[in-house]
Amino acid sequence: MRRGLFVGRFQPPHYGHFHALKWIVEKGGVDEVVVVIGSAQESHTLRNPFTAGERFEMLLRGLRETLGSSQGFIIAPVPDIAMNFVWTRYLEMLLPSFDVVFTRNPLVARLFEEYGYEVRMQPAFDREVYSATRIREMMLRGDARWRELVPSSVAEYIESIGGVERLRRLAGGD
Ligand code: NAP
Repeated sequence: MRRGLFVGRFQPPHYGHFHALKWIVEKGGVDEVVVVIGSAQESHTLRNPFTAGERFEMLLRGLRETLGSSQGFIIAPVPDIAMNFVWTRYLEMLLPSFDVVFTRNPLVARLFEEYGYEVRMQPAFDREVYSATRIREMMLRGDARWRELVPSSVAEYIESIGGVERLRRLAGGD
């Protein structure tokens, strides 16, 4: 049993994340993936509009829609801590053990490498298109095409919780 780790903020989870998770399952040589919802303490800000619980729900729905099932994924919300140096030990304390870390984030890669973990980089899947920053910007300016960048079950969930309205209110818009 070989386990991978994938860390993200998922604000919100989009096709880039789901393509990455599919690639990890199919090509990453692991049997299970621990998916960490990072910055779990954050919500209701322009950079982090969604709660950890909402992101958890979006990941479950998106995995079922894009991969057919959320089986084989262990999802864990984890709040940030002020000390990068001990973050990897903190994750080891909270999570089931893992053998390899998949990331494109240079800080995440560096922190795990310093502790001797194998770190692999998943390919970029249309990164300029599938980007959570871009999705939040589209939501803010009323560009409905953000829905094309996330699985439809995720778009429906965001609409059901008034996610776009929340973001626009946070920005001081209507
Ligand atoms: P993210 O932006 O949601 O990205 C998660 C992963 O998905 C990254 O590897 C990202 O690669 C990848 N990804 C996104 N779009 C993609 C695409 N189109 N194709 C392929 N891959 C794609 O989250 P993140 O900012 O990396 O999350 C790191 C989390 O760790 C944060 O919550 C951070 O606070 C936390 N952290 C905490 C500490 C601490 O508490 N001290 C320390 C380090 C990290 P890209 O980078 O290329 O987008």
